[in-house]
Amino acid sequence: MSLAAISTRIAQAEVAHGRAPGSVQLIAVSKVQPLERVIAVLDQGHRLFGENYVQESQGKWPDLRTRFADVAVHMIGPLQTNKAKVAVELFEAIHTLDRPSLAEKLAKLAQARGKSPDLFIQVNTGEEPQKAGIMPDAVDAFVTACRGMDLPLSGLMCIPPDAEDPAPHFAMLSQMAARNGLAGLSMGMSSDFEVAIAHGATHIRVGSAIFGARTYA
Ligand SMILES: *Cc1c(COP(=O)(O)O)cnc(C)c1O
Repeated sequence: MSLAAISTRIAQAEVAHGRAPGSVQLIAVSKVQPLERVIAVLDQGHRLFGENYVQESQGKWPDLRTRFADVAVHMIGPLQTNKAKVAVELFEAIHTLDRPSLAEKLAKLAQARGKSPDLFIQVNTGEEPQKAGIMPDAVDAFVTACRGMDLPLSGLMCIPPDAEDPAPHFAMLSQMAARNGLAGLSMGMSSDFEVAIAHGATHIRVGSAIFGARTYA
């Protein structure tokens, strides 16, 4: 797949599901991809990227930002509290606000800096023990707590369980966002982004379908 082919599929899904044209943002997930593939996508004019690792992003994006204007990079991987300080300097948004201790840390940093990346709360819709995220029955209280800390909440994010139909998870996330007055829905990856768009995704996170398979060192 190419960037152009994915963009066409997004536009078709917007039409098919009654979504406004351009209402879905494509986050090109560039983690562990060779630099030349990332530059090829930048050269095609794409400017919104997703990364999973703070250290990898530190080594890559400050330089690329000097070469390409108006780049935005979103953190979509688990964030350790001791890397939060570096992360708020590197990313325009963090999609993995998944626990109270991280919220408190981000609130302190926001107060000290006078600004904060946009935040998405990660919800563990499948209630999987090994997966990060706020449990569904704790989401409303966590949203309230984050608002009490003046954190800028954009929306909710989920990663459905591997071997399940993602649709009920996307529907659940959409309902939770609506009842909490949150507009952003970060959901959908290479294999299921059209389903996510049907359920209201505003941010889809697509890696391998754009860049090819990842090889981990
Ligand atoms: C790696 C990753 C993606 C992209 O996955 P693909 O299947 O390559 O599209 C999306 N979201 C998260 C949270 C990821 O870690």
